[in-house]
Amino acid sequence: MNRRTVQDYIRTIPDFPHEGIMFRDVTTLFNDPRGFRMAIDLLLHPYAGMDIDRVVGLEARGFILGGAVAHQLAVGFVPIRKKGKLPHDRIEQDYTLEYGTATVEIHTDAIQPGETVLIVDDLLATGGTAEAGIKLIERLGGKVAGCAFVVDLPDLGGRKRLEALGVDVHALCA
Ligand code: IMP
Repeated sequence: MNRRTVQDYIRTIPDFPHEGIMFRDVTTLFNDPRGFRMAIDLLLHPYAGMDIDRVVGLEARGFILGGAVAHQLAVGFVPIRKKGKLPHDRIEQDYTLEYGTATVEIHTDAIQPGETVLIVDDLLATGGTAEAGIKLIERLGGKVAGCAFVVDLPDLGGRKRLEALGVDVHALCA
């Protein structure tokens, strides 16, 4: 019997959101009960024996994955959101996109100094989003134990960029 892998549940949509982009659509993975469970189990596997204090999810698909990972690890969940969405005291971090810049935010009381944090998102491309997340967590005194992604697009250099910051990168497929 051929067992389906995580990759088998992900579809690629050509020319979305712009011409020339091959968009990895993980909604089909989330939609399948076996695929979703497998992805959550595999995402947290390297970190299950560590003392993770919090899981941080990156907006928006990182909320779906990170919430489930936090539940399994029995720790709290922290959202990093795009600017203007978080209601309480927060700090912000700019990062560069292909065209222009973006800003993400975290609540200042979401992570305590010394806490160990796992970052979760659906996809690693250039690593700019995750790097901004790492900076926010470190500015609050947290330590990033790792970044876990469903998909890594290695040609875009994200893994090297995050590893150069001393952060462990874990991805389920390319
Ligand atoms: P990076 O900052 O260049 O690493 O881009 C990663 C961010 O863009 C993540 O938050 C992803 O959700 C999103 N992203 C980029 N490309 C894709 C894709 O093909 N599918 C789903 N999300 C993507």
